[in-house]
Amino acid sequence: MNVQLRQISLYIKPAQLYTLTRKLYHINLKYRQTVFQTLEEKFKDVLVQPTIKKDTWESIRKHVMETNLHSSIVDSILLDVLKQKGLIDVGISYYQFLVKNNYDLTVPTQTYFLQLFEHKKTIKEEDKECILNIYKHFISKYKSFEITMSNTLVKTLCNIGEWEKAIEVIKKFEINDQTFLYQAYNTLISYLYDYGKADKAYEYLLICFKRGSSPLEHVYTSYIKYHLKDKFTVNEKIEELFSLWRQYGINPSKETIQEYIEVCNDLGWSAKQTKLEGLQCTVCKQELLQTLSDKDYERLCKVTEQKLIFDHLYYVSNPKEINKFINFVKNGKPYDVVIDGLNFIYASTNGYQQLEQNLIYHRKKGKKVLIIGKKHMRKSIMKMNLQKLAHYFFVDNSSKDDLFILYAAFASGKNAKIFSNDLMRQHKYAITDVEVNTLFKRWQISQQYNLKNDVQNMNKLTEEIPIDAIVQKQLSCWHIPYMCSSSRLRQRHTSNDNWVCFNMCP
Ligand SMILES: [Zn+2]
Repeated sequence: MNVQLRQISLYIKPAQLYTLTRKLYHINLKYRQTVFQTLEEKFKDVLVQPTIKKDTWESIRKHVMETNLHSSIVDSILLDVLKQKGLIDVGISYYQFLVKNNYDLTVPTQTYFLQLFEHKKTIKEEDKECILNIYKHFISKYKSFEITMSNTLVKTLCNIGEWEKAIEVIKKFEINDQTFLYQAYNTLISYLYDYGKADKAYEYLLICFKRGSSPLEHVYTSYIKYHLKDKFTVNEKIEELFSLWRQYGINPSKETIQEYIEVCNDLGWSAKQTKLEGLQCTVCKQELLQTLSDKDYERLCKVTEQKLIFDHLYYVSNPKEINKFINFVKNGKPYDVVIDGLNFIYASTNGYQQLEQNLIYHRKKGKKVLIIGKKHMRKSIMKMNLQKLAHYFFVDNSSKDDLFILYAAFASGKNAKIFSNDLMRQHKYAITDVEVNTLFKRWQISQQYNLKNDVQNMNKLTEEIPIDAIVQKQLSCWHIPYMCSSSRLRQRHTSNDNWVCFNMCP
C-alpha cells in the first residue's frame, strides 16, 4: 500500500478502503493500457532501435501526455509500461533522456527506473552510477522514506553489490516508520548469505524473527547453500535454524521443508514426512510433548508480574491486592494445580459439587491445589465445607482474575497445571514480544487443562482443539509442522498430516 493510501486508511473504514484501492487499481490499469496502445500504434518500430534520439523521446512523451495523463505521472507510467512489456533497455534509455534534459524526477519515476533492474543480470557502469546518484539524492534530500521506494532501493543496491548502502536505506527508513521493510530485509539477508557475509546476514535474520515475520523461501535457500560449504558445522547450523523456528513460532512452507528434507537426507539424517496419531509421531513413535525450561518459567513469570503491576491498558486490580497476592504465592508455591474458580463453577453442570469431587480426587493423589476465585464465592465454599481441601485466594469481584491464575502457575514452575476453560486469547495477543508469546503458547498446550462434564479428571487443551503446531525436538528427532499455503506461515494449527520427522541419528 502506498503512503497516501496508508494515510487515508486512518480515516476510512476497511470496506471503503478496499473499494478505493480497487478503483485506483482499475484507473491505473486503464492508463497503462492507453499508454501501451499509443506506443504500439505510433512508435512500434522506434522502440526496437538500439538508440532513441532526444526528439523522438520528446515526441513519445508528448503523445503519451495527450492520453489525458498529467505531466507529474507520465514518466512513471511510461517506465512501468516499458518494464511490464519487457522493454528494459528502452526504459533505461528513457530515464537517461529525462536526466540529461533536466526533467523533474518524481519518487515514483525513480522507483520505476530502479525496478527495471530487477531481472537484469549485468548492469552497466553508467547505470550503476545512475543508481548510486538516486541513492545519494535520497539520503541527502529526504528525512523520511516511502516504503516502495525503500524496498526497491535496497534491492537495486544489493544487485550492484552495495550492501552497506542498502543497510543505510533501511536504517533511514526505520527512523520515522514502524512498518517492517519485509521485502528489503529478505533481499538483504539472501544477498549477505550469497556473498559470504554470514554474521551480518544472521543479525538481520534475527531482527526479521523478532519482528514476527517469517522470512521468504529464498532466504532459507541462501542460508542452507552458505552453510553446506562447511561440512563440519552444517548440522549444527540446521539445528540452529530449527531452534529459531521453535523460538519464534514459525512454521516453514511446504517448498522450504521439501528442500530441507533433501539436504538432511544427503547429510545422512533420516528426514521423512510423518503423521501424528494423537500426540504420537508415526515414524519415530515418540510423543510430541512440549516442555519448558526453568528459565522459560522465570521469563513468563516476570512478564506476568509486570503486566499485573503495570498494565495500564485495562483495569486489573488495585496495588494493595496485587502485593498481597504476590506475597501469598511466594510463600505458598509451588502449587500442582491452579484452578480458575469462577470459570470452573460456570463450566460444570453441578457447580460446587463437582468442584468438591475434583478437590477430593487431587487430595488422594497428594496434589497441592490453589483456587483463585472472586470474593462472592467465599460464602458457598464455606457452606460446602471445601476450605480444607485446597488453598484459596479470593480477588475483588471487580478484579480480572486471569492474570492472577497465570502468575500463580508460572511461579510454581514445571509441575503446575491450570484448570480453566478460558483460552486466554487476550493474553496471547497482549504479549507483544514474539518470543515470549510463543513460550506462552507452548506452555498452554502442555499445562492448561479444561473441564469435561462427565469426568472428574482434567483434559488437556490439545485433546479438545487441533494440535498447536510448534517445532519441537524429542531426543535426536526434530518434529516440524509445515504450512501448505505460504501466506499463512504463522497460523497456529495445522493438519496432523503436515509434519516432518527429521532424525539426526537414524
Ligand atoms: Zn518422529
